[in-house]
Amino acid sequence: MSELRDRLLRLSQNLWWSWNEDLDGIFRAIDRELWREVNHNPIEFLKRVPSTALATKDKDASILAQTIRAEKHLEDYVKSESHWTSWNAPALTSCPVAYFSFEFCIHESLPIYSGGLGVLAGDHLKACSDLGVPAYGVTLLYRQGYFHQRIDAEGRQTEVYEDLDATTVPIEPVRGPDGEILTVTIPVAQEVLVAEIWRARVGRCDLILLNLCEQQDSSASARVFRLYGGDKTTRLLQELALGVGGYRALRKLGVRPGVLHLNEGHCAFATLEAIAERMEKTGLPFHQAADDVAESTVFTTHTPVAAGHDFFEAGHALHYLRPMQARLGLSDHELLGLGRVNPQNPNEEFCMTVLALKLSRRANAVSSLHGIVSRRMWQGLWPDRRPSEVPIGHITNGAHVDTWLADELKQLYGDCLGSDWRNHVCDPVRWRQIEKLDEFQLWSIKVILKQRLLDFVVRRLQSQRERLGDDTPLPNLRTDVFTIGFARRFAAYKRATLFFQDYDRAKRLLTNPDRPVQIILAGKSHPADEPGKALLQRLHELSRDPDLRDHVVLLEDHDKNVSRHMLEGCDLWLNSPRRPLEACGTSGMKAVFNGTLNCSTLDGWWDEAYDTRNGFAFGDGAVFADPAQQDKHDADGLMDVLTGRVLPLFYDRNGQRIPLQWLRMVKHALKTLAWRYNADRMVMDYTHHMYLPASGTQTARVLF
Ligand SMILES: *Cc1c(COP(=O)(O)O)cnc(C)c1O
Repeated sequence: MSELRDRLLRLSQNLWWSWNEDLDGIFRAIDRELWREVNHNPIEFLKRVPSTALATKDKDASILAQTIRAEKHLEDYVKSESHWTSWNAPALTSCPVAYFSFEFCIHESLPIYSGGLGVLAGDHLKACSDLGVPAYGVTLLYRQGYFHQRIDAEGRQTEVYEDLDATTVPIEPVRGPDGEILTVTIPVAQEVLVAEIWRARVGRCDLILLNLCEQQDSSASARVFRLYGGDKTTRLLQELALGVGGYRALRKLGVRPGVLHLNEGHCAFATLEAIAERMEKTGLPFHQAADDVAESTVFTTHTPVAAGHDFFEAGHALHYLRPMQARLGLSDHELLGLGRVNPQNPNEEFCMTVLALKLSRRANAVSSLHGIVSRRMWQGLWPDRRPSEVPIGHITNGAHVDTWLADELKQLYGDCLGSDWRNHVCDPVRWRQIEKLDEFQLWSIKVILKQRLLDFVVRRLQSQRERLGDDTPLPNLRTDVFTIGFARRFAAYKRATLFFQDYDRAKRLLTNPDRPVQIILAGKSHPADEPGKALLQRLHELSRDPDLRDHVVLLEDHDKNVSRHMLEGCDLWLNSPRRPLEACGTSGMKAVFNGTLNCSTLDGWWDEAYDTRNGFAFGDGAVFADPAQQDKHDADGLMDVLTGRVLPLFYDRNGQRIPLQWLRMVKHALKTLAWRYNADRMVMDYTHHMYLPASGTQTARVLF
């Protein structure tokens, strides 16, 4: 075995590589082409690189020196006790946060996420690691995860599920002293599920993954393999596995969480497990144990539509909760009441969000506007309060800078903001120095990033067409053409087709020879979402329209990798949700980091972030009762702002042939937005406003 391979394998065991570029230079020097092909995944690289290629590098002193430096860097990073938390929240260092989430996105090679919620969870954990907040991510290891999307010649989505390849991601089972894999049990209805405990190292933090074992005589155990793939029973079992199993896994690993953070209602059963354990250990009655657990529990809600919350029919929930009910000593009525706005109403379904709100003392929405919506939505739980007094605050989401910023720009910003700028990403004063950034250099990099995106797009389209045996010519995409990006889940409220609402106007705009436009779209539709799939089909049609072929591209299989290429390479990031249905939206923040301007309805984060000069808005925040009228109003607004403001600014060139005024706007966006809409700021806010109070602050009370 080569020494270099050994060292590199060890280094790749910590997913720090998914946001740290130490390994980049090394792998690029070994085989640049392969490094790109494997999307910078070192494990897959090492699997595929011929041993001869590595053997020759074994003798390369500079590569070995770089590798040793990277080892030292990782070790220092993981072990250092001098970090933000030690200075700003020392009480928390002995009070780990258990962060439960139904999905997690650390890297695309671990496809256990579907969209924004999972990306947020991954970014949260990475920022906890960077800041030294002691956190454990807790989630399910779906053996097939989320699907890969294929789009056929008619524009229909097919879902392809692949078994997770545990040899290309650094996840491993946790073993006890006897070498056996540690397991936990989850009693559901009359049976007991068993889950192995797996772990991924995410910088300083651990991500705990529950791998449910298939049991021969169990109908339940076979159901939990896919994310969002099944019926209500599957969902209920998954949520029990995550909440109950996740909490038990932490305890089995000897972790005493000081704070339980529920990322969305799916994981609210963790509170019931914590309460039951507390009752068993202390002999306290239910209501006292529940009070204690609630005091230490933080709940983040993400869904501004009532129907989007998790509901279970009462008898169904009871059936699976029987073992838990026995431990809690609650009557049917009392247990179901925990998930009902009005416990006296026998017709109300059992709602996970209600459970989470009742069993957490601190709850928040994910943007200012979403806070207002959430307080109104859940006012029924506090009938004597006015909406503004409902105890749901907000902490606006943030995106993780090191994960989402192009390497070339990291370098450029470093030159301008100082080499230590990444330790100060939340400092607005530091970001003011971005004024000094040379526009010409910025533009040169944006052109490189756009070229990379277009190459990526063409490769993707090529392989799709080969698969379909389709010989229509590839679109002629150009770096000098204004490029709009739209990439997110194709849920109806996000209105992926809004741009094309008025076909003739869109066509004129796209094909104007003086100011041409190309638009690249990508997104998956939930497998059961027919309206979402119809949007996809319409976009497919448009991309095949002979008049638009060189201007409209639909990419298949949107994931973190597609998303990153688009965010880096586009000029404008389009976001068109129907207000106020986007709780926050985080992709626009990633766009900002990459010098891509936002053009969005005034919804989610953009409603609070837009200052008229740091990007573009359309639809002026007006809300209509009739969705058709709303769409017409917003579509007109979008076309107006593109024609009237965006395109004139972009195509206005100075003597150096660069869009100087456009780039000044990019700099203004960086200055006003980047310091605030990032994951470090988000985790700092959670620490100050939620974690410290929930943990009992200065005394760092350990409850569990
Ligand atoms: C950031 C991101 C999202 C979130 O997109 P929004 O629509 O802005 O909330 C979804 N999917 C992927 C892959 C992302 O990277």
